[in-house]
Amino acid sequence: SQAQVGVTGLAVMGRNLARNFARHGYRVAVHNRTAARTTALVEEFGHEGEFRPARTPEEFVTSLERPRRIVIMVKAGGPTDAVIDELVPLLDAGDVVVDGGNAHFLDTRRREQALRAHGLHFVGSGISGGEQGALEGPSIMPGGTAESYRVLGPLLEDIAAKVDGAPCCTHIGPDGAGHFVKMVHNGIEYADMQLIAEAYDLLRHGAGRQPGEIAEIFRGWNDGRLESYLIGITAEVLAHTDAATGKPFVDVVLDQAEQKGTGRWTVQTALELGIPVSGIAEAVFARSLSGSAELRAAAHGLPGPTETWLDSAASDRFAEDVEQALYASKMVAYAQGFNQIQAGSAEYAWDIDLGATAAIWRGGCIIRARFLDRITAAYRADGRLPTLLTDEHFREALAGAQSSWRRVVTTAAQLGVPAPGFATALAYYDSLRAERLPASLVQGQRDYFGAHTYRRTDRVGTFHTLWGGDRSEEER
Ligand code: NDP
Repeated sequence: SQAQVGVTGLAVMGRNLARNFARHGYRVAVHNRTAARTTALVEEFGHEGEFRPARTPEEFVTSLERPRRIVIMVKAGGPTDAVIDELVPLLDAGDVVVDGGNAHFLDTRRREQALRAHGLHFVGSGISGGEQGALEGPSIMPGGTAESYRVLGPLLEDIAAKVDGAPCCTHIGPDGAGHFVKMVHNGIEYADMQLIAEAYDLLRHGAGRQPGEIAEIFRGWNDGRLESYLIGITAEVLAHTDAATGKPFVDVVLDQAEQKGTGRWTVQTALELGIPVSGIAEAVFARSLSGSAELRAAAHGLPGPTETWLDSAASDRFAEDVEQALYASKMVAYAQGFNQIQAGSAEYAWDIDLGATAAIWRGGCIIRARFLDRITAAYRADGRLPTLLTDEHFREALAGAQSSWRRVVTTAAQLGVPAPGFATALAYYDSLRAERLPASLVQGQRDYFGAHTYRRTDRVGTFHTLWGGDRSEEER
């Protein structure tokens, strides 16, 4: 009998996805440009299930039952197009082609349109969880037609991570919706990591705690509302000692953070959509700044504050304040990310279910966390919630956190410890809740130098003041 699903591209991700399918009892056709990888997979893991190795795309395609389900797991960009171009002439109407790589959602929209013209279903699917997730259960974010999900969804739900028995996989929406949501997931991941890193930095360089002590603090947090994969692994990293030097691992790693680009895509897209994702943007900028070695070397030695440590009494209370600030800032970063998904969904008519999206991030993916239940509940209660921050749970948590949050941002500024994530989150919060913003003054400036006009609070219409003349107002 023919294979039920095929995977082409058998590097770490593709190989583990194929094994995941096989372990769930599916007959899996496997193919890779370089045949050695295919052979190696079958030799090493053939005992795990039924693999159908194929040496050529033709062999691969003919080994699959129809409608075919093919998962492409190759390097994103040109290679994905090359593989699609090779496969399309071999396929039949109704077949489903999945791109599980990290594609830009606009590329996915383009590919979906092109394949639709051939009667094929193209599914751009976000897959999160890295190598281990691919094998043991990732969080899966498939886009594409409802028909494609009917054919493919049950298989993906089988291999996805499960939380309380529910699969971390749902049909996100048409064409690029899945890759869009995966992109924002990665952006949120950047923000979350940055906030945790700032919490560490403040405890270390504000409160004078050692990495091992901070690991313990984080372990404690991980038993509470901050429970998440990222807090857990951060504690592990902080507790780790470098074997070569005997120093804390975190002290021997070069402090220049790298990035592969999905955070940048999130921010670029947010700029286009006009959605302020300042938490994600600060996280991307913070990585760029850390990597600006020459700039940092030139600026090293610029004057800082004279007061550089908290006294010990204050330092004991500080950890609690930092926990509050972290929770509050995290709420802001997620609220911003979900607003971006909401805006993308409206722009491209995807009709994305925000509550379901938060639910499939509870397992398998890098930002998996207890906290996501709160987001699902918030959107289940009100699907049109303008911001998560006004949901009852979040509102109460912010009310409880805000004094601590303000103290942390103030302390960071006083001690000269950079906390861009905490600070921008607080500024966003205060901007949102402000009754009046100085944007009125910005409008005045724009009208002054460019006659860009303004609207008034007391009358409808568009107005301009004759700044260069008698300063009378005219209606435009
Ligand atoms: P890589 O991104 O390193 O890609 C290597 C695979 O791509 C190999 O199978 C390679 O074949 C194939 N390939 C490259 N160029 C071509 C081409 N022109 N034609 C055909 N095949 C080609 O593999 P990963 O497993 O790391 O990632 C796969 C995808 O999954 C990527 O899009 C990545 O962004 C995404 N992803 C990765 C995650 C991770 O943790 N690594 C997490 C989530 C998503 P060959 O063996 O012949 O060179």
